[in-house]
Amino acid sequence: MNIHEHQAKALLKEYGVPVAGGVAIFSADEAEAAANSLPGPLYVVKSQIHAGGRGKGKFKELSADAKGGVRLAKSVADVVANAREMLGNTLVTKQTGPAGKQVNRLYIEDGADIARELYLSILVDRTVGRVAFVVSTEGGMDIEAVAEHSPEKIVTLAIDPDTGVTAADIDKLAAALKLEGDAKADSQQLFPALYKAFCDKDMSLLEVNPLIVMADGHLRVLDAKVSFDNNALFRHPDVVALRDTSEEDAKEIEASKFDLAYVALDGNIGCMVNGAGLAMATMDIIKLYGEEPANFLDVGGGASKEKVTAAFKIITADPNVKGILVNIFGGIMRCDIIAEGVVAAVKEVGLKVPLVVRLEGTNVKEGKAILRDSGLNVIPADDLDDAAQKIVKAIKGQ
Ligand code: ADP
Ligand code: MG
Repeated sequence: MNIHEHQAKALLKEYGVPVAGGVAIFSADEAEAAANSLPGPLYVVKSQIHAGGRGKGKFKELSADAKGGVRLAKSVADVVANAREMLGNTLVTKQTGPAGKQVNRLYIEDGADIARELYLSILVDRTVGRVAFVVSTEGGMDIEAVAEHSPEKIVTLAIDPDTGVTAADIDKLAAALKLEGDAKADSQQLFPALYKAFCDKDMSLLEVNPLIVMADGHLRVLDAKVSFDNNALFRHPDVVALRDTSEEDAKEIEASKFDLAYVALDGNIGCMVNGAGLAMATMDIIKLYGEEPANFLDVGGGASKEKVTAAFKIITADPNVKGILVNIFGGIMRCDIIAEGVVAAVKEVGLKVPLVVRLEGTNVKEGKAILRDSGLNVIPADDLDDAAQKIVKAIKGQ
C-alpha cells in the first residue's frame, strides 16, 4: 500500500525527521488560508498523487509549456493561482503511464533554500536479507538514470538487525553523501530515525528524493515516498486509515475484498487461473502466441464459488477484455467449483466475449458436465498450449 507525500511526511515527523511545514488541501478555496499559515515568502504547491516524477510531469488539460506538478510560488496570490490551475487536472509523469492521474489534493509547503539535493532510500535488500540504505550525492533527478550511467555514485549499506544503525554506519552514510558540519550532525539523528520508522511501520520502501542540505547547512527531507508491506497492514490500523482508494485500480480494490491475487495489466485476454506459477505460465504462453494478458489472477487453492464468481465478474467488467481464458489445474481447487462460479457469474453479467476453458484434475468430469449442461458457449481446451492457441484465435475472429 502506498500513501501520499504529505502523509509520509507527517508520519516521519513523529520520528523527529526534519520536514518543512505544510498544509494539504482538497479545493482551491483552501489555498489562501493554507499559504497564510506558512511563513513565506517562498511556497511550493505540490500535486499529491501516488506516483513520482511530478516536478517534470505535464498536465493533460494545460498547454505543453505550462509548469509541472510541483511549482514554486512567490506569494500567497501565486499559490492560489497555481492551485486553481492544478486541482482536478490530470498529471502525466514517467511513473503514471500515459493515462496520468487526476490531482485531487495539493500540498502547500514552505519553500526551502536548497544548497544540495541528495538521494536516500531504505528498502529490503533480499540478496542479503537485510534492510539497507541506498544513498547517492546525485539526488533530485532520475535515480534510475544515475544507476544506469554512473552506478559508482550509488552506495548501498545493509544494516545488521541486531545492532540497528551504528555510529560506524552513520559515518559511512554521511561520508557517501559528503555531509559536513551541521548536516553531518543532523544525520546522526536522521539516519536512525528513518530506519526506526521503516521497521516500526513495516515499510517496504522509504524513498527520500531529494534529501537536501539547505543554505543554512541543515538537512531536510524534501520529498517522501513510502510503501508498506501489505502482509503486515493488520498490525497498523493507523496506516490503513491513510489509504486513498481513489489512487488505486478499481478492479484491484474489488479483488482485494475477495482476497484474490489480482493485478490489472494492459492486454486484452482476461485470465482466471489457480496458483501463481500457473498464472505466470498462462501469461507467458498467451504472449508466445502473440497476444497480451489483461490481468494476472490467481484465485487461490481453496476458492469458494462466490470467490470464483467475483473473479469472473471483475474480468468481464474490464472493457479491454476481448476474450477470457480459464485455466485450472484442480488439486485442492475443485474443477466443479470453478465451473459453478463461471456459470453463476455469466448468469449475472452475461458473456459478450469468447471463453476458453481448460480444466484438469480433481472433479474434472463434474466440472466439464456443469459447463456443458449450462448451455454456455464455452470453447473447451485440452491443455495449456491448446487453450492459449484457441483464445488467441478466437479474439482474432478466425
Ligand atoms: P517529484 O519527485 O515527484 O518530482 P519532489 O517533491 O521531489 O517531486 O519535487 C521536485 C523538485 O521540486 C525537487 O527536486 C526540488 O528541487 C523542488 N522542491 C520540492 N519541494 C520543495 C520545497 N519545499 N522547497 C523548494 N523546492 C522544492
Ligand atoms: Mg522527488
